[in-house]
Amino acid sequence: MTAHTTPAIAHHMDLTAFNTLGFSVSAEQYITVRDTQAFIQWWCAPEQATLREQPRFILGGGSNLVLTQDIRALVLHLQTVGMQEVKRDDMHVWMEVQAGEMWHDFVMYCVAQGWAGVENLALIPGTVGASPVQNIGAYGMEAGQAIEYVTAFDFATLQMVQIAGQECALAYRDSLFKHALHNEQARYLITSVCFKLRHDLRDWQATLGYGDVASRVRENTQGRAVCPNDVAQAIISIRQSKLPDPKVLGNAGSFFKNPVVDKPQADALKTQHDKLPCYPMTDGRVKLAAGWLIEQAGWKGARSADGHVGVYDKQALVLVHHGGGTGAQLMTLARAIAEDVQRKFGVFIEPEPIVV
Ligand SMILES: Cc1cc2nc3c(=O)[nH]c(=O)nc-3n(C[C@H](O)[C@H](O)[C@H](O)COP(=O)(O)OP(=O)(O)OC[C@H]3O[C@@H](n4cnc5c(N)ncnc54)[C@H](O)[C@@H]3O)c2cc1C
Repeated sequence: MTAHTTPAIAHHMDLTAFNTLGFSVSAEQYITVRDTQAFIQWWCAPEQATLREQPRFILGGGSNLVLTQDIRALVLHLQTVGMQEVKRDDMHVWMEVQAGEMWHDFVMYCVAQGWAGVENLALIPGTVGASPVQNIGAYGMEAGQAIEYVTAFDFATLQMVQIAGQECALAYRDSLFKHALHNEQARYLITSVCFKLRHDLRDWQATLGYGDVASRVRENTQGRAVCPNDVAQAIISIRQSKLPDPKVLGNAGSFFKNPVVDKPQADALKTQHDKLPCYPMTDGRVKLAAGWLIEQAGWKGARSADGHVGVYDKQALVLVHHGGGTGAQLMTLARAIAEDVQRKFGVFIEPEPIVV
């Protein structure tokens, strides 16, 4: 390996700019991965035998993390870029995208080509490599619907693997990548993701069933045929009006997963709270809106006693960092909210971001 491809290890690296909540923590050791092959060659070399046994942590855009303390590990920060068409037929195009590409840039590339499959996921922060980890989803669509396969480096075997989308156990905010471990740490480093997108839009139906997407799209298109870019633009404007920009106000998006309950419990809650939003699922259970429960419990706009962390005043599902706070303070607030929701509605809500 040539000297210029050997990753340089930084020590006590400040991660404040690398997590969207903006918590000030550092990584004991840190490297930027810009070239997958060079990294793997370096990682597998005999000189790295000790490093391979030490704690490590994979970092993408830091938009789904609560960093509660300094990370005593080697942080691998994925910044590989590039996307490539790998296959095409009459209906579909297959795009292989490097893990460090920004998810939103990829979505905008697709809609600019007139391709459908990821348009409802516009403006979700973070990297393409993280998209399968929690199977990002929004406005009635999940990344998993378009994932053909995931290519990853397996820390257990030191081999590259290709895992078909159907084998990734993709579910609501979940996948095998959250659970597959080696030495009690993430087993797979996702290096690229291949997406299957539609380029032939004859008979294509946009996914417009969530929130006010349909009315916003209708407003913008004034009766002409809807294209994927129309959907993306509508969702971008809705998201901008509801979610704080992490560059302005630290946050990790929706802080709690929408709880899923069985139908009798949902029916009972609905008789007491007729405005409770309920989304029936295909397995018969019912998904409830966590944001509604938190708002009804009176937490919207609340702040911790010291004022450092709080609940966003326009969307109760989003916890925010006003500055000077810590991840531990945010988690204290999150626990208080979850306990209150449990007490008032008998429903358990759990955090969506990964707490480190
Ligand atoms: C304003 C805002 C809005 C959001 N809206 C949504 C939304 O609508 N829907 C939604 O689903 N999420 C949403 N999120 C959450 C977040 O954007 C996604 O979870 C995103 O996929 C995280 O990507 P990331 O690169 O920032 O991952 P990180 O936060 O860096 O990492 C998240 C997890 O993935 C792991 N990981 C990251 N990269 C890799 C890799 N290459 N290989 C293996 N593991 C990896 C990390 O170790 C960590 O466990 C939002 C966040 C914010 C701040």
